[in-house]
Amino acid sequence: MTSPHVTVIGAGIVGVCSAAWLQRRGFGITLVDPEPVGHGASFGNAGNVSPGAVVPYTLPGVLKSLPGWLLDPEGPLAVRPSALFKVLPWLLAAAKQSTTENALATSRAMKALHGGTFEAYEALTRGTDAATLIERCGQLYVSEKLDAAQGSQLARAMREEAGVKVTPLTESQIRDIEPALAPIFRSGMLLPDNGRCKNPHQLVESIAGECRRNGAAIVRGAVSGFDTNGSRIKGIILDGTVRPVERVVIAAGAASGELAQQLGTRVPVTPERGYHVTIAEPGIAPRIPVSHVDAKFVCAPMNMGLRLAGTAEFAGFGAPPNWKRAELLKKQARRMFPGVKLEQVTQWAGNRPSLPDGLPVLGRAPKYENAFFAFGNGHFGITGGPVMGKYLAEIVAERKPEIDLAPFSPTRFTAR
Ligand SMILES: Cc1cc2nc3c(=O)[nH]c(=O)nc-3n(C[C@H](O)[C@H](O)[C@H](O)COP(=O)(O)OP(=O)(O)OC[C@H]3O[C@@H](n4cnc5c(N)ncnc54)[C@H](O)[C@@H]3O)c2cc1C
Repeated sequence: MTSPHVTVIGAGIVGVCSAAWLQRRGFGITLVDPEPVGHGASFGNAGNVSPGAVVPYTLPGVLKSLPGWLLDPEGPLAVRPSALFKVLPWLLAAAKQSTTENALATSRAMKALHGGTFEAYEALTRGTDAATLIERCGQLYVSEKLDAAQGSQLARAMREEAGVKVTPLTESQIRDIEPALAPIFRSGMLLPDNGRCKNPHQLVESIAGECRRNGAAIVRGAVSGFDTNGSRIKGIILDGTVRPVERVVIAAGAASGELAQQLGTRVPVTPERGYHVTIAEPGIAPRIPVSHVDAKFVCAPMNMGLRLAGTAEFAGFGAPPNWKRAELLKKQARRMFPGVKLEQVTQWAGNRPSLPDGLPVLGRAPKYENAFFAFGNGHFGITGGPVMGKYLAEIVAERKPEIDLAPFSPTRFTAR
């Protein structure tokens, strides 16, 4: 008897973790991606692995900050004028989310999804090359303002409710932890139970490599549509040719909305572009990831150098990168770490798959019994990816995941 089979569309962190967990549940796997494995958002992120990521971006007050951010060319958020018309409904939907009640509900769902990230990675990577890439080292957050590193009262209450361990830091304690920082930071926060991935691309490649060794086929090609029969998908259209499938998982990151739409479900996933600059020989060696809370970017030590990553730009699909955003990261890093050497740098831009309520979709496609959605992790896919994959595999295997999946429902945008 041949094993049941799943075709996973998208070989980013969510796709490969889903594939790995599905194999453990006895499914044969085909992973499909037009790019080499791990070349989407999963390539160039900051690598923060954050079980304590329980504070959504859409907190009350975000609407008030929005105009200031948008008008400041050096602010953390940018919208290309050419994309404004298209992205405005998304931004308004995100702003509408920012009531205390909604933010608290989102925070609880984030805790359910992110809380088990290290355990999920441990289960997936034990005995493989990837095991040493994940480190429970803590993360440092610093602000140039007094008493600001921990965020608002609500943000603090969310961490407390979720049981996230927090160590508040004074100016001198910040410098004790990270002596290379400029003496401009007036408040700090250590999240000792968070950690990092030392090379996100290598992590995705390594998990995919294990899948391949366990029998998965990895196929290069772009899925442009589906061949359907009633409520079943018979095949995917891969580079113009129908390829038969038994079950399909859409894990195509920011491109997933278009595929979900073809299956009759509107999921407003939008590309939220971020940038990185990676410095091969930075001349400084922060031990753990350091986030600048005010400028909203991360300086992450990695095995290939120091990575500066962040910024949120809504530019639409296919718009050329605005490398001024990467230059800005360099300028901010120089202010943060006066000793940093900005030679031998590479730069990158990639699209976070972002949904206006800050949570991904995870579940069966509403209109097709053999299709499943797993995408939309926004700023937290390296953290959420291994847990998404675990629960996705349980859903496909018709088992009941241990968390409440209602907050991640694919119908939540159409039901309202
Ligand atoms: C600057 C930046 C910093 C970040 N920092 C962090 C962090 O510190 N911690 C954290 O947890 N998260 C972070 N993130 C977020 C994280 O990177 C993403 O949430 C995550 O990588 C999304 O993974 P994914 O697998 O859903 O998407 P992707 O990695 O984008 O993968 C999707 C894949 O689908 C493929 N695909 C697209 N269309 C098709 C198609 N039609 N057919 C077949 N395949 C297709 C693509 O080629 C791609 O390989 C950051 C993101 C950015 C941009």
